Amino acid sequence: MSSDNRETIPAARPVIGEEEIEAVVRVLRSGRVVQGPEVAAFEEGFSELVDGRHCVAVNSGTSALHLLLLALGIGPGDEVIVPSFSFAASANAVRLTGADVVFADIEPGSFGLAPAAVEAAITPRTAAIMPVHLYGHPAAMDALMPIARKHGLAVVEDACQAHTAAVGGTPVGAFGSGGTFSFYPTKNMHSLEGGMVTTADAEIARTLRLLRNQGMEQRYANEIVGANMRMTDVSAAVGRVQLGKVHGWTEQRRANAAYLDRHISAPGVTVPPVAEGARHVYHQYTIRVQGDRDAAMARLSEAGIGNAVYYPTPIHRLKPYWEPDQKVGRIWDLPETERAAAEVVSLPVHPSLTAQDLERIVDAVNSLGEMQ
Ligand SMILES: *Cc1c(COP(=O)(O)O)cnc(C)c1O
Repeated sequence: MSSDNRETIPAARPVIGEEEIEAVVRVLRSGRVVQGPEVAAFEEGFSELVDGRHCVAVNSGTSALHLLLLALGIGPGDEVIVPSFSFAASANAVRLTGADVVFADIEPGSFGLAPAAVEAAITPRTAAIMPVHLYGHPAAMDALMPIARKHGLAVVEDACQAHTAAVGGTPVGAFGSGGTFSFYPTKNMHSLEGGMVTTADAEIARTLRLLRNQGMEQRYANEIVGANMRMTDVSAAVGRVQLGKVHGWTEQRRANAAYLDRHISAPGVTVPPVAEGARHVYHQYTIRVQGDRDAAMARLSEAGIGNAVYYPTPIHRLKPYWEPDQKVGRIWDLPETERAAAEVVSLPVHPSLTAQDLERIVDAVNSLGEMQ
């Protein structure tokens, strides 16, 4: 309970409104609940967010990453360059294909892959680069795309946190060989669970449609080995409702972030920088805290301000990556990743915040200055 008895402001607040509920009921009453017309309409609608690229809906963001890698032909013997400072799903999708994960360090500002580190990590086995648009800030695509072109590498954008983020006016998910989005409830828009793959390549889009459905286009005429990673029409109906709201919500996130930027001024606290030409969509509003982060977080919690660390353990230190690396004596040198993992704290920035909530967040963060 907060010290002043006010309710805690949650770190995230998924929206399930009346429209979403009505959409679900409408699909359930139709009797047509598996992948069908709602999924097709959701794909078509989402395409507008990614400059008209082909869109293939699946059952999660992780499935989107996994299937995109498979559709690009990535598998055993290949290496994919991934940031260690991300959600484990980014690297897991690579390992699930049988390919090897090569970790590269991040830029301290954007928290995305550092182009120089990517270039240094390229080997003859490198097949792809996976920029993650972490927290809703786009990775440095203007520098990463030329590196990929120069070395003939595929680019798999993990845009799971970055619906409608952009660099120089081009939306994320429209740069690479393909992009992936998540519709998990805490993301900037959701479909209960769900994911989307985006690609400019019609052939890859067709392969993705086969892979998500047992390799079938015509029923029982299986062309390739595939999985069942279909989205349901129930999910798609929720996603379509949210698609109509995501722009407004994003502007509200950006306005909330601008308010926090203007008013947070505690010594030892750094607000999130935005790269030139980048459109940040603030899936998270992530500050850096110098000094005792645990004490700072405890103080925020006492003040009723939801807060969390994404992600406290870099992926290369998680057991399924750390243990095999230890066995072969591989040590990753990722100083910016380690520093970020030790310093970041995400604050509430979601569109349901009130003016009073924002003031409380600022007051609580600025009171951290007294701890220095
Ligand atoms: C959420 C997320 C994923 C996975 O999406 P799911 O829908 O949860 O499977 C992948 N990468 C990043 C960066 C994410 O935030």
